[in-house]
Amino acid sequence: MVSRITRSPSADSSGIYRRPRLVLKLKRFEDLPTVLSKTKSYPTPIRMVGADYSQTRCVGGDGGTTVDTGALDKILEFGETFVRAQAGVRVGILVRELAERGLELPLTPEMGQISLGALAVTTLPQASFVAGVAQLSSLVTELKLITPQGKQMIVTERERDLMRVLRSSFGLLGVVHEVVLRVRPLTPVRIDYQVLSLKEFSGRFASIINAPGALRLHISPFNDRITVERRTLDESASLSRSGIWQIRKSVMRNVLPAFGSTVGSVLAAPGLRAVMLSSVQKRGVVTYAHEWMRDMPNEPWKARHTYSLWAFPQIDYPKVLGEYFSFCRSYYKQHRYRSNVVSGASRLHQDRGSLFSASYSGPMFTLEPSSTGDSGWDDFLIDFNDFASGLGGTPTFNQSRALQPEHVAKSFGERLKLFRALRQRTDPLNRLRNSYFAYLLG
Ligand SMILES: Cc1cc2nc3c(=O)[nH]c(=O)nc-3n(C[C@H](O)[C@H](O)[C@H](O)COP(=O)(O)OP(=O)(O)OC[C@H]3O[C@@H](n4cnc5c(N)ncnc54)[C@H](O)[C@@H]3O)c2cc1C
Repeated sequence: MVSRITRSPSADSSGIYRRPRLVLKLKRFEDLPTVLSKTKSYPTPIRMVGADYSQTRCVGGDGGTTVDTGALDKILEFGETFVRAQAGVRVGILVRELAERGLELPLTPEMGQISLGALAVTTLPQASFVAGVAQLSSLVTELKLITPQGKQMIVTERERDLMRVLRSSFGLLGVVHEVVLRVRPLTPVRIDYQVLSLKEFSGRFASIINAPGALRLHISPFNDRITVERRTLDESASLSRSGIWQIRKSVMRNVLPAFGSTVGSVLAAPGLRAVMLSSVQKRGVVTYAHEWMRDMPNEPWKARHTYSLWAFPQIDYPKVLGEYFSFCRSYYKQHRYRSNVVSGASRLHQDRGSLFSASYSGPMFTLEPSSTGDSGWDDFLIDFNDFASGLGGTPTFNQSRALQPEHVAKSFGERLKLFRALRQRTDPLNRLRNSYFAYLLG
């Protein structure tokens, strides 16, 4: 059966309130139907946890049963165009195994801890190269899950509507134990940087978004700096290992000074050094995507890096950034608080692969205020959410902190109603629903 049941003493050390009554280390997926059906032994809600790196209470135990998928860690099959693996496999491990076979995921995140179960059912937008693939869940071509009634289900991308809903289901429609992901041949990526003021960024915006490649931005409102990182697939590029040293030198000499003393002081914290270096690294060099992936500590609270993510329509983005700069400055004036890590952003092509996709209705840019979680940060995010919602932003359930039901209703409208109705039909006893989703989704 399950390998270990532990009593969970208190709230999670990351500060995200959870408090399950039981934490199960699941050994075999075959045990899931029993766990789901025995309500006395395994109290409601049943919530899955992968790496536990989400920024919200989307795992949330609420006196119920948290099921840790860590032991479902087998990569089952490598094909030329796909890979099949269990839900507890970490994406960093998978990506390195793929690279050894000359393969990669079409989107590679910068953080290696993400579990494949979470990858399949949450919103993980990435700087995208082409329309249709802007969140990691869009790489999923097949899912195996156990429904709240304990039934095994296999869903493939041929069942488009069902797949779209499951890819945004956050463990509310079933427990995923196996996934198949699309892969492609390993392709070199050329990375270039441009450091611009807001005025320059706005003036060049059309050419920035029309040139090919994925875009990641590093935004510093108090220094009026936007570093535009462009990642271009370059099959003809030759790669030398010495490129890595060039990257490190280039970061120190050319990129970091553009961010001024605020970033410099943050870099003094050792746990953050890797985060910051890898988020502003590599200028005019060629690398492979798996080389920008970093492994964070296994205990999420040790990462000491927190952020919140909203997405905004691409067409409005220079205006949104202008408003953001003003918002940050006036917030500082009023409350003497400013976030102490550079804000990130990614350009997302339109992607309708999942119901709550951040770029469901068209091309978007994210905006990701970031912090070490210092005093004042939580209050800042409450005001930032109202600011973002007021500008027509779209949040996520796993990476946008301090959300309120009105933010969610405004952004997702009919899609929210559809998901709510489906959830009520498939899980009428609320076996999988925790208070976080009850509050936001109903
Ligand atoms: C410092 C830091 C850096 C980050 N960098 C990046 C980055 O570069 N790129 C990026 O995309 N993200 C990044 N993130 C976000 C983060 O990766 C994800 O939000 C999170 O890691 C998702 O994976 P997880 O395994 O931790 O999910 P968890 O937090 O464990 O779970 C997320 C949700 O999925 C559900 N779930 C988990 N497993 C299953 C399953 N098997 N079946 C059904 N439901 C399941 C859970 O119940 C929960 O609702 C970063 C986060 C931090 C803190």
